[in-house]
Parts: sequence; C-alpha cells; structure tokens
Amino acid sequence: MKGKLFIISGPSGSGKSTVTKLVKDRLNIPLSISATTRKPRNGEIDGKDYFFLTKETFEQKIKNDEFYEYANVHGNYYGTLKEVVESNLNKGLNVILEIDVQGALIAKEKKRDAILVFFRTKDMETLEKRLRNRNTDTEEVIQTRLKNALKELEYEKEYDHTIINNDIEESCQKLINIINS
Ligand code: 5GP
Repeated sequence: MKGKLFIISGPSGSGKSTVTKLVKDRLNIPLSISATTRKPRNGEIDGKDYFFLTKETFEQKIKNDEFYEYANVHGNYYGTLKEVVESNLNKGLNVILEIDVQGALIAKEKKRDAILVFFRTKDMETLEKRLRNRNTDTEEVIQTRLKNALKELEYEKEYDHTIINNDIEESCQKLINIINS
C-alpha cells in the first residue's frame, strides 16, 4: 500500500508551519525538507529547516530533473526533491508537503489523489499582525508577503479543505481528522 500525499499551503503568517510541524510529530510522519535559495533566518539550520542552496546549485538540480516540484516564491526558489516524496510514499508512509500554491498545483497534476489543505487567517488584519509579531522580516519582506497573500488567497478554491487558523490546537485537530479520514 502506498502512502497518501497531503499538501498544505496558505499565506506566510497563516500559522501553517507551526500546525504542520506539530501534526507531523504527533502522527510520526517523517519530515520532508525542502530546498531553497532564500538566506537562512536566525536560528535556522541547513538540512533541518531547509537545504539552503545557491541559485547555481538549485538551477543545476532543476536541469538534472531532481525536483518533484519547484517554484519561485517571494523572489527565491523553493522546491521539493523527488527522493523525499517518492521513497516515503513507496514505503507506505504518508507525506506532508508544506509548499506554495504554484507548487501545490504541480504536485496535484502529478498525483491526482493528493489532498490539498489551505490555511488562512480569518482576515488580512490578523495576518498582518502575525507577520509583524514574528519579528523575523524587514518591512520590505512583510509588504511583499502581504501582497502575495492576496494572490495566494485566490487559489483557495482549488483546495479540498480550508482551515481558518484561529487556535493552534483546534487547527491541529482539524488537520489530524483530515489525514485520518
Ligand atoms: P518561508 O520563506 O517563510 O520559509 O516560506 C515561504 C513560502 O515558500 C511558504 O509559502 C512555503 O510554503 C513555501 N515553500 C516552502 N518549501 C517549498 C517547496 O518545497 N516548494 C514550494 N513550491 N514552496 C515551498
């Protein structure tokens, strides 16, 4: 039996990473580490949070067809390596990818039974507050992320489920229910 593929997307600041990490821990779902050309934030570790690659290395991997999906998000490349997805699905393990909306649609094309889950806040004011409270990004980055959030929200209708993330624990339970159903 093959594992199931779950894809989580939503604007930066929607809380999707926090919830996804907690659910992966609770259900013992292996981490799937993405590659990116974005610079590490304070405290982020190469090989744990992301594989931090140079643009040249990333583009070489694109040429070598090593990505299951990749996209340009907020001006940087982000991508899921094929081996991360395929080896786990073949072992019968569920895989959760937390990726942007463009990548999600590419993955859905490849695997029609993938289950797409969209995370968002109840409104834009809440999103902006969360982005500012993180204290990790410059004003310019926050503005780019807010602008991109509006674009990302247009894709919500393509998703199988939406979780409006008001409360981390409640959202974890909702995601667990989707995975177990
Ligand atoms: P951040 O820079 O905040 O870690 O991530 C920015 C965006 O990139 C988020 O929307 C995140 O879901 C997306 N992202 C992270 N990894 C991947 C990936 O492997 N592929 C794609 N397409 N998007 C990703």
